[in-house]
Amino acid sequence: MTDYQNIIDAIYAGCRESRDRGVVASYIPELAKVSSSKFGIHLVDLNKNNFCAGHSKDAFSIQSISKVLSLALAFSLVDNALLKRVDVEPSGDPFNHLSLLEFENGIPRNPLINAGALVVADILVSELDDPKKDFLHFVRDLANDRTIDFDEKVAKSEKRTGFKNYAAANLLKSYGNLTNDVETVLDFYFHQCSIAMDCVQLTKAFFPFMNGGKCQRNRTYLTLSQVKRINAIMLTCGFYDEAGEFAFEIGLPGKSGVGGGIVAVLPRKYCVAVWSPGLNAKGNSKLGMEALEKLTTATHQSIF
Ligand code: GLU
Repeated sequence: MTDYQNIIDAIYAGCRESRDRGVVASYIPELAKVSSSKFGIHLVDLNKNNFCAGHSKDAFSIQSISKVLSLALAFSLVDNALLKRVDVEPSGDPFNHLSLLEFENGIPRNPLINAGALVVADILVSELDDPKKDFLHFVRDLANDRTIDFDEKVAKSEKRTGFKNYAAANLLKSYGNLTNDVETVLDFYFHQCSIAMDCVQLTKAFFPFMNGGKCQRNRTYLTLSQVKRINAIMLTCGFYDEAGEFAFEIGLPGKSGVGGGIVAVLPRKYCVAVWSPGLNAKGNSKLGMEALEKLTTATHQSIF
């Protein structure tokens, strides 16, 4: 049996010493307040054995990691109808790029770049009775944890500086790919991104993506086909314009966020979450990427 705890302890020891920790995101002013000295990692295997190190129980802003959860909920509500409004191709562009959107007539490249996530948010705003509350309930339910919540300060902070997201939403609207009004969709989107979770909670919420759609309580959230599709989107589109590098170095489907979190899954084996707020030049957690590379190398386990 793989000694995950030993491997994770060694990874933590290495990361704790690291001097080059990347740069904490500051374009959302509230995120700039987080210390780059934080590092947490948590892994849960298929049998629900838990392994952790560092600040694995410190909550942080999940940001774009939430895009996988909103996609999962939208998929479970409208299934493949979603694909009429958003494509599934990697963009090779930063998460907030706008030029492709105009070039491709308002159909975002994939649901994990901002424009695509805004279309998914629009679908949820249309489909849910009380969108923010129902989405939060979905995340709490997945993780079986009622304490998970929005961080209103982060949501407000992003609203003040989210000019590119306003631009993307307006472009989508101009192409007829946004049903609800721009303010409502952005309010939902900024809130979903503001959700604060720790590494332990994230591995619980992402358990279904590693376990054929079933959460830790064995409740089914997604079909096998939906899990396959979402994991494929994570692998090809989950790391901005560094998705190829992540597949190359780590070899797992996953998703990062500018709060410095990364969640990744090895189907039928484990789900891992890592958090280190300093980002590399492409906007992914610098030490988080390095830690996961060490994990898949030391365990000789990846999807490849
Ligand atoms: N809320 C952030 C934005 O839209 C999410 C970015 C990210 O985590 O990639 O800019």
